[in-house]
Amino acid sequence: MNLPTFLGGVHPPEGKALTENKAVEILRPEDTREFVYPLALHIGAPCSPIVKKGDVVLAGQKIADTDAFVSAPKYSAVSGTVKAIEPRMAFTGAMEPSIVIESDGKYTPAPTLHDLLGHKPAPSEYVKLIRESGLVGLGGACFPTHVKLSPPKDKVIRWVIVNAAECEPYLTCDNRLMIDSPDEIIKGLEFVLEIFPQAQGVIGIENNKPEAIRIMTEHNKNPKISVMPLKVKYPQGAEKMLIKSVTGQEVPLVPALPADVGCIVLNTRTTWQIYQAIANGKPVTERIVTVTGDAIVEPKNLQVPLGLNVRELINACGGFSDEPVKVISGGPMMGIAMRSIDVPVVKGTSGILALTSKLAYIAEEGSCIRCGKCVEACPMHLEPTLLDHAVRRRDYATFEAHGGMNCIECGSCAYNCPASRHLTQSYKNGKAAVNAERRKAAAEAKKKAEAK
Ligand code: SF4
Ligand code: SF4
Repeated sequence: MNLPTFLGGVHPPEGKALTENKAVEILRPEDTREFVYPLALHIGAPCSPIVKKGDVVLAGQKIADTDAFVSAPKYSAVSGTVKAIEPRMAFTGAMEPSIVIESDGKYTPAPTLHDLLGHKPAPSEYVKLIRESGLVGLGGACFPTHVKLSPPKDKVIRWVIVNAAECEPYLTCDNRLMIDSPDEIIKGLEFVLEIFPQAQGVIGIENNKPEAIRIMTEHNKNPKISVMPLKVKYPQGAEKMLIKSVTGQEVPLVPALPADVGCIVLNTRTTWQIYQAIANGKPVTERIVTVTGDAIVEPKNLQVPLGLNVRELINACGGFSDEPVKVISGGPMMGIAMRSIDVPVVKGTSGILALTSKLAYIAEEGSCIRCGKCVEACPMHLEPTLLDHAVRRRDYATFEAHGGMNCIECGSCAYNCPASRHLTQSYKNGKAAVNAERRKAAAEAKKKAEAK
């Protein structure tokens, strides 16, 4: 069967068998312990605390916010007392300003978003409520959802696509959510279609999830929504690849956005959480995390409160069976290697992957042999070798001129590279340097304008 797909991409080992048939278990510690909430770690402006040391908080109470449009507030998942506001290590390895809450183990609930609003929201209030719920892309990108749902007025949205591809190896949390809670995902999509009445809804699922495809198809009774099986190929779940597979359209290069081709793409869990915000007035306080890898005794999908220490998740899976050489936040292709497991679960923590030396691929970087395999793999049709060479000689103008800012950091080129070149890291460095130069230029222009 010719299933919809895109050009380029790779086929890494899936690794999903470890957890795909395991129902979600709830991990909700009922003793007193610390929960940690970094004020940043989403795309956009960091939040500022709206609580102070010593304050008593309830589960589901807002603890940090900002006036910036591109940002999202933070909520405590637990009831307890604010113990400190101080830098704590995050999964990135950086020390992030954080609110530390000593839980009382009781999860005493705060008023819901509906209680605070005073009524059930009307469609005209959905986007505001979604912003208030603290929702960001829960696939890992953490882009504020209300911003996605606020396209420029001249853009007509014709497709709302639920990104249920879950193409990242090892991760199965979205798959399990579709099997266990299909109706909430469909209702979440229906709420979004109320915001964009000219759009149709499509739930795009990679074809290696037959049970999820069957269940979502059986539960969907809405003629405006369809379930679309997609070819299994990494990175099928990258926004631009998914739009190509579902609609046949290419999203133009940056700064173009999905809305430029009439699309909005939402992750599966994000869509489920939209339902929770609009139907039940619930903010984002918990998520499902796939804890997996050959170094974990009993891999599982765990539903956990945000802010919980990652070490607790690993303990709940029986701990390490063998010394891991790599622990990754996320999956093996786009995840970030963790310096410590004593960091909190955050909104974007889709998985914790612990690998032994048998499966963790750690190789010495060799010289480029100009084989072109990276070019074949790149779904953005870039020239990875050329970009890599440009970054290594700090020639960011060439990097930018050859489309380096369009790199989606999918890692397909590095996966295909026989010389184990650290290509993805090179592009991350290149993009960071270009962004830093842009920020500097903008600041200088502002300074000049103010001086006039
Ligand atoms: S250059 Fe960027 S977009 Fe292309 S394969 Fe490599 S990481 Fe992916
Ligand atoms: S795949 Fe690796 S070795 Fe081959 S051209 Fe690309 S960077 Fe060079």
